[in-house]
Amino acid sequence: MEMKSLKDAYQLRNGVKIPCVGFGTYLTPDGDTAVRAVKEAIQTGYRHIDTAAIYKNEKSVGRAIRETELNRSDLFITSKVWNSDQGFDSTLRAFDRTLSDLELEYLDLYLIHWPVPKGHDHDWKKMNKETWRAMEQLLEEDRVRAIGVSNFKAHHLSALMETAVIMPMVDQIEIHPGLNQNDTIAFCKEHDIQVEAWGPLSQGKLFKLTDLDDLATRYHKTVAQVCLRWHLQRGVIPLPKSVHPSRIAENADIFDFELSAQDMEYISRIKCASSGLDPDIFRA
Ligand code: NAD
Repeated sequence: MEMKSLKDAYQLRNGVKIPCVGFGTYLTPDGDTAVRAVKEAIQTGYRHIDTAAIYKNEKSVGRAIRETELNRSDLFITSKVWNSDQGFDSTLRAFDRTLSDLELEYLDLYLIHWPVPKGHDHDWKKMNKETWRAMEQLLEEDRVRAIGVSNFKAHHLSALMETAVIMPMVDQIEIHPGLNQNDTIAFCKEHDIQVEAWGPLSQGKLFKLTDLDDLATRYHKTVAQVCLRWHLQRGVIPLPKSVHPSRIAENADIFDFELSAQDMEYISRIKCASSGLDPDIFRA
């Protein structure tokens, strides 16, 4: 299905609809900045907000949601269980804290933030399995509408899927020009797992390069818009973050043009540095 607005959505395996662009909140300071940014995004038309316990801004994200005129069911809210909370009981407790900080009755999507918590290289599979059991319980209790993972590569997903009763519905991974993630995306497609892109604008690094300048001029769009359109045409949900109203609007204005197959290919070949947070190496 072609996505024509921020409100258009993909359908997850269990029928839940997930809007095709999300609004990122990593490093958005708690307090007025976060409240203003999220309200601005919702006013602009974003219906999907991405936060996490570790971002320490859930209270402000929740306040922004309450202060909008929309019904709760018009919004799609994601949060994530942090590494130090992995495990069955601790995940349930972390979820309770997240809901209470957001002051919400339910979440739309809850994710395991990272596959291998620090100090758990020897037992991360067992850890993920216990965490996942808690996620399944939350889903069965209707406290969350969909469950998934983040930063999982195919081998992390395969390990989880060995004992999972309910298969993960979403994988949120770092993707941007320079980090295409073709292998993980192919694995997810094969298993009906919707992919989301964090760092969709390479956390700003792309703007220091000139590779997309000519394309942007040709399409009468900005570099950010061309990059986000590339994600959209790959069927990946980008989660661009900004606290500036003009950029929040700019990043949403990606539905009135289409990149040619040749230009898609060109963007996929751009060399741009990534965060370096490779889940096989990075620990937190
Ligand atoms: P991003 O790629 O969205 O880049 C954000 C930065 O790009 C901003 O700080 C701003 O400086 C710049 N920017 C944004 N729009 C711009 C524009 N139109 N023009 C020029 N500059 C612009 O990076 P991100 O915030 O790290 O990732 C997006 C979201 O993904 C996060 O906010 C968070 O919600 C999520 N995330 C998840 C994980 C994870 O481990 N699951 C990790 C990082 C981020």
